[in-house]
Amino acid sequence: MTRTTQSVGPVAWHGLPADEAADRLAASFTDGLADDQVASRRAAHGENRITPRPGRSPLLRFALQFVQPLVLVLLVASLVTMLLGEWVDASVIFGVTLINALIGFIQEGRAESALAALARSVISEVTVLRGGSKRRLSSTELVPGDVVLLTAGDKVPADLRLFHTRELQAMEAALTGESTAVAKQDEALPHDTLLAERSNMAYAGTVMISGQGSGVVVATGDHTETGRISRLIAEAPDMRTPLTRKMAAFSNWLLLAIGLLALLTFAVGIWRGESVFAMFMAAVALAVGAIPEGLPAAVTITLAIGVSRMARRRAIIRKLPAVETLGSTTTICSDKTGTLTENQMTVREIYAGGVRLVVSGSGYSPAGRIGDGAAIDGALRECLLAGVLCNDAGLGKSSRSWEVVGDPTEGALLVVARKAGLDERTLQKMFRRLDEIPFDSARQYMATLHDIEGVRLAYFKGALEQLLARSITMLDRKGQATALRREEIEQVARSMAAEGLRVLAVARLVSPSLEALDAKSPDRGLQFIGLVGMVDPPRPKAISAVRTCHSAGITVKMITGDHAVTALSIARQLGITRSGEAALSGRELAALADDELHAAVARVNVFARVDPAQKLRLVRALQSNGEVVAMTGDGVNDAPALKQADIGIAMGLGGTEVAKEAADMVLTDDDFATIEAAIEEGRGVYDNLVKFITWTLPTNFGEGLVIVAAVIAGATLPITPLQILWINMTTAVFLGLMLAFEPIEHGVMHRPPRPPSRQILDAALLWRIVLLGVLLLAGSFGLFLVELAQGHPLAEARTVAVNVFVVVQAMYLFNCRSLKFSALHIGLFSNPAVWYGVLVMAVLQALLTYWPVMNRLFATAPIGGPEWLEILAVGTLAYLIVGVEKHWRNLRADLLRKRPRAGSR
Ligand code: ATP
Repeated sequence: MTRTTQSVGPVAWHGLPADEAADRLAASFTDGLADDQVASRRAAHGENRITPRPGRSPLLRFALQFVQPLVLVLLVASLVTMLLGEWVDASVIFGVTLINALIGFIQEGRAESALAALARSVISEVTVLRGGSKRRLSSTELVPGDVVLLTAGDKVPADLRLFHTRELQAMEAALTGESTAVAKQDEALPHDTLLAERSNMAYAGTVMISGQGSGVVVATGDHTETGRISRLIAEAPDMRTPLTRKMAAFSNWLLLAIGLLALLTFAVGIWRGESVFAMFMAAVALAVGAIPEGLPAAVTITLAIGVSRMARRRAIIRKLPAVETLGSTTTICSDKTGTLTENQMTVREIYAGGVRLVVSGSGYSPAGRIGDGAAIDGALRECLLAGVLCNDAGLGKSSRSWEVVGDPTEGALLVVARKAGLDERTLQKMFRRLDEIPFDSARQYMATLHDIEGVRLAYFKGALEQLLARSITMLDRKGQATALRREEIEQVARSMAAEGLRVLAVARLVSPSLEALDAKSPDRGLQFIGLVGMVDPPRPKAISAVRTCHSAGITVKMITGDHAVTALSIARQLGITRSGEAALSGRELAALADDELHAAVARVNVFARVDPAQKLRLVRALQSNGEVVAMTGDGVNDAPALKQADIGIAMGLGGTEVAKEAADMVLTDDDFATIEAAIEEGRGVYDNLVKFITWTLPTNFGEGLVIVAAVIAGATLPITPLQILWINMTTAVFLGLMLAFEPIEHGVMHRPPRPPSRQILDAALLWRIVLLGVLLLAGSFGLFLVELAQGHPLAEARTVAVNVFVVVQAMYLFNCRSLKFSALHIGLFSNPAVWYGVLVMAVLQALLTYWPVMNRLFATAPIGGPEWLEILAVGTLAYLIVGVEKHWRNLRADLLRKRPRAGSR
């Protein structure tokens, strides 16, 4: 059949019966589109992507670079200098301001686009029916006519006309502004139904919060309702974090203080009888020197570098503050299945009709045997049949291996059935599904209704507690109903769980006239069929990651929907608990008062049979104990806990779109070890920020100090404002910023988490600021005076002073490469960026000193060999003195750490 698709747009799809909509789109509800149909429609309609409207224009972004206190100071300075007739100075100041704005513009733009690209890289996947089988593909590949299967947690990828729904509810606030859930159905509606009331449509960008449904794509990309109102303005990512806010506040105070000091300097100079111009220049020099202008850019760039390093280790940061918070995480609450374990389920044991059988084979390959070739009949056959029919997964063979589309737990049931020669495709066609109750983590079971040889049969599979409580009989080996042996069943389940197996119970309900299933008043009177025990081995990398977390002072807690015995067994293998430690179940948790819960969360590391809604309580309890909590989640119901946690972590592979949107970080491999890696990076990033601050503040202080000292002493300024401007702009970019590329220091995961309240500007840094400030003052002012005393011209003396600054800053950079160790200890060449920076700086200084053009612009002059020796000597001395100070501080810290222990002995 080669009918063409209708042009997409004016058709009122909600007004058509579902069949007619499908006809118009030449779509098949049962098989989806064929591959050739997809190819031609793809060519006609393009990618399913909404073209973003451009964000802030580059011109505006560039202009905004000038709205910063320092730049404004510089612009005013440039204006005043011009009015005073100093054209060269005025244009150099203006030129520098321009270059500064340009650098800021480029760096900011790069950081922003890198972050935005990362955010986009979390592709959203959809399940579609194509060529008769289910496939997972990127939502961008959808074309009109595709049949999309929706489940709770999915973000609707295109506009769909729904043709099947089951308890389907959507949140459409993104489109209609309505923030309550709306129920969906599949009947046709009057043509004039308003957008918000079209309950048989699912619109792109809205979110499914419960139930299941299927729909046929009627519009993609810019033709969707969301695309048409084009609300999707390309937003610049928010680059603010707690630290940048603190820095901004700090800068404002600093600016005020420096402004006052500059005024004072100006006043003192005038009072002493200096010229207004000289004093104005001194005040400008002071402002320019003492303001750490590189700071905001350095913080942003360091964070952006951290974000891309994390992305390389498979953790995508969605909200920038997470980079900082990661470094102070004290507790990780992780799901079990898929995060701590492989989520590669293989059925190992079956208990059916009172008989326990071992299953051989591994992975998803259907090669293997049940009970060494046991007859597939009676209760065993019924158990396998229930597993196949009460199942939404698909099994397929790619070029290399067998793969499951859908839930691995369900995939494993298809595999074990194939081992017994039962093919799910034939069975599912033979015994069509008449109704269903979809699986839900809170309900913990799934049910489907079938007509089997004229009898209505409902199959149930789920947590043992849920099904056993509703069973009244069980099947014997031959498949006949017999008395329920509750204790035997529970004992078998416990023994399977103790081996670390995930246990799923299977039951059925025989009811000749059952029309529909109702989740709200669940059926009782079930016949218990059996138990299926499947392995889901711990991820090998997770075991070492848990160990690393422990040595880094981070507690790991497992929060799972699985049974306590299984959870404990896996937790022990992972090193999360030791033998003898108990788990707390969801039911016990519900019975605890808040204060009891606070004590319990501090003690217990495994929480089993937890309902997702309880996760929120757990996070809150941990937070009120002072913990900084990272929490993983994948379902819709996990979203509130993910938002509440200090770091909400969603699964990139197995997680729902709702969870991803609520999260601060998305793991592209769903692996627990990635969380540990991200924390390590987070600590590294924070260290690098502290290193930059430790580098910049003392040098700025030194520059300010030199000016103030010169004015107070009534001496000529050893460095002119232009020269200071030169020093600051070049050293911040080519020296300081290179610290952002420092690799993670050895031992970051051997120290406790950083308390979030700890201030960067502490006593140690204050002391360092004073020490280096005095060294810079003594070195530059000292050599400046010596030069003058030796009869060298002012320009030469100033060039010496400028070079002292740059050389000391370059040497001090090596002190700052590690907060604790010396540069030699961490490897002199472990960060090549520092060396490139130093090299560029050397070339720039050579130009400043020897190139006549620069000499004229910056009032510098060539200097000789002996001067260079003196300058290098000052630099080396500064490096050594700071090195000794660092060493002394380390010794003192070690002593302080040991003392209480010695005392307690
Ligand atoms: P975690 O919370 O660590 O991911 P989990 O996968 O066991 O672990 P849930 O998905 O909430 O947590 O499942 C809870 C229980 O529901 C399982 O232990 C199992 O007994 C049952 N269950 C899981 N998946 C299905 C399914 N597809 N159909 C029926 N029952 C299921």
